[in-house]
Amino acid sequence: MHRIFLSCLQRSSKSLLVQTAPLSLAMSTVSTASTTSTVSTDMAAKYAKLPKVELHVHLDGACRLNTLRELSKEYGLPYPHDDEEAFKLWVALPSAAPSLVDFLKVFTALAEILRTEEALARVAYEYVEDLHRQNAVYAEIRYNPFSEVVGGPTGEQYCEGVIAGLERGEKEFGVKVRSILCFKRENPERCAEIVSLAHRYMSRGVVGVDIAGNELLPLDPRHIDGFLTAKKLGLHVTVHAGESGPAENVRQAIEDLGAERIGHGYHVLQNEDIYCLAREKKIHFEVCPTSSVYTSSTQNDNHASLRFARDGVSFSINTDDPGVMLCDLNGEYVVAERDIGLTYDQLKQLALAGAEAAFLPDQEKQEVVKAIRERLAALEQGHC
Ligand SMILES: [Zn+2]
Repeated sequence: MHRIFLSCLQRSSKSLLVQTAPLSLAMSTVSTASTTSTVSTDMAAKYAKLPKVELHVHLDGACRLNTLRELSKEYGLPYPHDDEEAFKLWVALPSAAPSLVDFLKVFTALAEILRTEEALARVAYEYVEDLHRQNAVYAEIRYNPFSEVVGGPTGEQYCEGVIAGLERGEKEFGVKVRSILCFKRENPERCAEIVSLAHRYMSRGVVGVDIAGNELLPLDPRHIDGFLTAKKLGLHVTVHAGESGPAENVRQAIEDLGAERIGHGYHVLQNEDIYCLAREKKIHFEVCPTSSVYTSSTQNDNHASLRFARDGVSFSINTDDPGVMLCDLNGEYVVAERDIGLTYDQLKQLALAGAEAAFLPDQEKQEVVKAIRERLAALEQGHC
């Protein structure tokens, strides 16, 4: 039940915000008095240099703490925005396996704060800057364009705000960014509108659709229609599946929804036939290490990504909700080596795997691949 609630809440309100000390930064400042700390510091420095691709991040889960404090204050919301530590408890989760109360509190606050087009534009822009600082070359940022806040932005205003922020960030920081619109399992009645918005904003960087929410809820015919219509319109498809739900959800995503990528997907390994199907279809798995431990979807011991790596299955390392989970992209690479057991040689190839799985036209995809190869080559030659 715990996992059901976490999955439901996490994905239905897709939330928030910022950490004051991202894992990689925390590690870089840690004392070198112990061997463990030295190893972590070295790892953080090593992975900070790698070019990266982020394919699975929810915008409302990726905001800066101080920005949320400022917005809360500006909108006169009843949060302790003048006390950083107290405010953080409202918009971030202090530890893995948080309580239902913690989740409710965080997601409600985040939705309340991200209540205007301007707020959305700001957090989107700032996230691109954060990506730039972490050596990201390319990213796809996802969001559900329907706010549940009374008086909140319309779907159109939501898209306009986010896209304006992403466009500005892309131009200023040189990180190529695209976006994905999310259906919710709990709200199939919104699917047609979301597809319509996605189609309308394809010319401004919307490249695909996804479905989030409680994975244990069955799909509605309107979800399926939404995905099939999106495919016909030229949009790509990724699906949260096999995270809290069974391998069967991965099969359904591939065969019934036309998924090219799977969000998380760890439970695909519970069924070898479905895993074979995913391999035959060359499905890419969007792995999110810290988030999946938070939601009790998997543990780092014997992590599915080890099998993916061994079998040559394409996957990437992503953050999901870096603000909520107090992580960042650099730090997720550290976790992947230190806690999961992937090697540096495996991890340094993941940006290329991510680029190949990007929802971009072939020519643009190859440009991203080329940029990553050039950065890797410079790294090998000690130029960065
Ligand atoms: Zn997600």
